Amino acid sequence: MTELTFLGTGNFMAPPGRYWNSFVLDGNVLVEPSPTALPHLRRCGFAVDDMEVVVISHFHADHCFGWPFLLQAMAEAGGGRTLHVVGPPGLERHLANMMDAGAVRSVLHMAQERLDLRFTEVDGSWQQVGPLRLRAVEVVHVPYLRCFGYLFDRPGGVIAYSGDTTPCDGLTELARESDALVVECNGRHLPPGATPTHMDEDSVRDLRAAHPDLRIVLTHLGEQVDTASIEGVTIPSDFERLTL
Ligand SMILES: [Zn+2]
Ligand SMILES: [Zn+2]
Repeated sequence: MTELTFLGTGNFMAPPGRYWNSFVLDGNVLVEPSPTALPHLRRCGFAVDDMEVVVISHFHADHCFGWPFLLQAMAEAGGGRTLHVVGPPGLERHLANMMDAGAVRSVLHMAQERLDLRFTEVDGSWQQVGPLRLRAVEVVHVPYLRCFGYLFDRPGGVIAYSGDTTPCDGLTELARESDALVVECNGRHLPPGATPTHMDEDSVRDLRAAHPDLRIVLTHLGEQVDTASIEGVTIPSDFERLTL
């Protein structure tokens, strides 16, 4: 069994009652260092140095702009321990640029002194990242950014996470290869003629119908989503723990 603790379940707009999407797997893997990841780790009873791996799906701000605060707290906990960070190609440079943009390059220097920081770029194969075995699957979200979902090999089964995605071959692969899928549902319906960049109520219903045996959990929820209208899925609240 795998325990997921949702630090946030909202989309970019952090709609009322839902902070930015982020969750913890089994107490030591943080998926998406969202802007509120650090305070919400504390609120859910985790110590920041419990986290051994930080996983990033793509470089949009709602998914990774908590990194400077998290790294400062992790560096203060220090002790020379190893912290793994895994994400898209260009990961280490992107996170260093974020420190420069925030005028806190000193945080990175302190972390490099006090932690054994290890960056892993995903390559589509099964990869061992510290205690976590994972495989990234590229998904289609926006045309200017590479975006990945993940398969996490956990005791008792494979847990998948979509990152931000549209219905695409990558999402089908994640659904097919997993026992439970945490998938985004950003909006209600696509306006006629619009090009999708996210999942919505309709595409989640299609996914539900196409994979009847799959456990589906929704996150990255927009304010407009009518959660009562989608049957056969689990919709966690912020700070809720699920056992899958
Ligand atoms: Zn997002
Ligand atoms: Zn995004």
